[in-house]
Amino acid sequence: TASHKTERSNLGPRLVKNAAYTYVRPDPIKNPELLGVSKAALRDLAIDPSSADTEEFKETIAGNRIITLDGKEEPSDEDIYPWAQCYGGFQFGQWAGQLGDGRAISLFESKNPATGKRYELQLKGAGRTPYSRFADGKAVLRSSIREFVVSESLHALGIPTTRALSLTLAPEAKVRREMTEPGAVVCRFAETWLRLGTFDLARSRGDRVLIRQLADYIAEDVFPGWESLPAKIASTEEKDALQPARKVPKEELQGPEDRPEQLENRYARLYREIVRRNAAMVAHWQAYAFTNGVLNTDNTSVFGLSIDFGPFAFLDNFDPSYTPNHDDHMLRYSYKNQPTIIWWNLVRLGESLGELIGAGSRVDDEEFKTGGVKEEWMEDVVKRAETTIQTVGEEYKTVFLAEYKRLMTARLGLKQFKESDFEELYSELLDTLEALELDFNHFFRRLSYISFEEIDTEEKRKDVAGRFFHSEGLSSLVIGGEGEARERMGKWLNKWAERVKEDWPNSPEAKEERFKAMRAVNPKFIPRSWILDELIDRVEKKGEREIIGNVMEMALNPFNEEWGWNKEEEERFCGDVPKYQRAMQCSCSS
Ligand code: AMP
Ligand code: MG
Ligand code: MG
Repeated sequence: TASHKTERSNLGPRLVKNAAYTYVRPDPIKNPELLGVSKAALRDLAIDPSSADTEEFKETIAGNRIITLDGKEEPSDEDIYPWAQCYGGFQFGQWAGQLGDGRAISLFESKNPATGKRYELQLKGAGRTPYSRFADGKAVLRSSIREFVVSESLHALGIPTTRALSLTLAPEAKVRREMTEPGAVVCRFAETWLRLGTFDLARSRGDRVLIRQLADYIAEDVFPGWESLPAKIASTEEKDALQPARKVPKEELQGPEDRPEQLENRYARLYREIVRRNAAMVAHWQAYAFTNGVLNTDNTSVFGLSIDFGPFAFLDNFDPSYTPNHDDHMLRYSYKNQPTIIWWNLVRLGESLGELIGAGSRVDDEEFKTGGVKEEWMEDVVKRAETTIQTVGEEYKTVFLAEYKRLMTARLGLKQFKESDFEELYSELLDTLEALELDFNHFFRRLSYISFEEIDTEEKRKDVAGRFFHSEGLSSLVIGGEGEARERMGKWLNKWAERVKEDWPNSPEAKEERFKAMRAVNPKFIPRSWILDELIDRVEKKGEREIIGNVMEMALNPFNEEWGWNKEEEERFCGDVPKYQRAMQCSCSS
């Protein structure tokens, strides 16, 4: 790593070995303009909202000022100096070598005293780092707006994600992409910015010591509660998969060799924890029809967070093969492939951790540095690692399915999952949405207003079915036309109503309670691609400012009925996707 005294001029792109980060200072921005701050982020970071108006705050999140203990401009050795992380990754399944934070610079960590949560604050688009390779270290306004809004939107929807505190315009930065564009900086934060790619790079270089350091760091510093997993290895029983966490005493965290009854060492547990978090995260994506678009291993978080918002999108019409990534010709990162791809990425992590999973604390620090596992243990170590990864794969599926069912159960207004729901309700619904080219998230919100009296005859059901159609009617490509479509949807509504009645008493209070429960999990607003495009256009071309706060207010409160800035505009943003703006794709240039 570079020393505190590093000058920017010494920081040209290079390979950084035996290190996980480099100290580097953000580039200052001339005349920064603060475009938006997330109120939710202020709260979660325990920042007093009134201080968000201060110059000090604005300069810090623009990268113009580094917080120092003595208030001086230059950080001393006691201060926290900003840093950029070193990582590699598999991109589209191919090893891509060293990548690293090419335009993200972390400032410091901050702990919320009320929640005890610690976050790492980072600036995206803050200038070049040793990891910038051939690129400029900057971010354009349009991609920054997208990241700012979607991070906070996902969080408000209950989807694990990295967050965004602020969006700052760099009016004088002229960023060259296909055209010259305005630049921006997003101040974002997360429990950790470590990715699976952090391990990939160390493994590719045979840096076993760094892998172990990283694993220990994550185990001890990043996951304060990680040791709370069920004690037995990889339970694939669903009831265990979701059982409440149990605090495991420190002595139980030793390797299996020390305590023969203990099946796992800390690294196997750590692996499971990372796997389980990612399983839960991708279950949320599937249940809310979110697509990341570039699920390379460097874009998969060790904390199980949605991370790296490039060409992401929420599905409009339900189309499982949809990918928001214009360059993803093989549909590798399409909606339906996400659970498989995340697991593919996690197997790469299992390989990086393999020696530790297999050997654990049998190898002490000194031995580890000088060569690691003894020859006579090798066979056992490899076998242990292989079976662990395999069993954890089963656990991944179990956690994924359990989370997915839990979320879908709630979205459908049910209280308990029943095994038959999978075939009878989910599959039939998803097939119907796909066949009729209907909007996924609108469907669930509109379902949240339907009472049983409205659908108690076949005629009524066919009539209500039309509420799920786009306002211009069904696509002319739908087989069987409108008649069959209404019948099919009507049949499903009937099954659904019968099933919901099993879980709820028949009373006016229960009806209201069910409506409330459904509307609390089925958002009225999500930041679809067309909305983000309109927002970008209005901010960038038309110079509007207020609209950012308004859209952010909707993103932060997605289950509201209204937001109180402009009824008509709000309804438009929550309404039908304009026909020619459905299923848009993004290029990667950002
Ligand atoms: P992504 O596709 O967003 O995961 O980015 C892949 C890699 O390219 C990461 O190492 C990024 O930091 C780097 N990168 C992307 N855009 C830029 C840029 N404008 N300047 C420097 N590095 C970049
Ligand atoms: Mg990335
Ligand atoms: Mg990116």
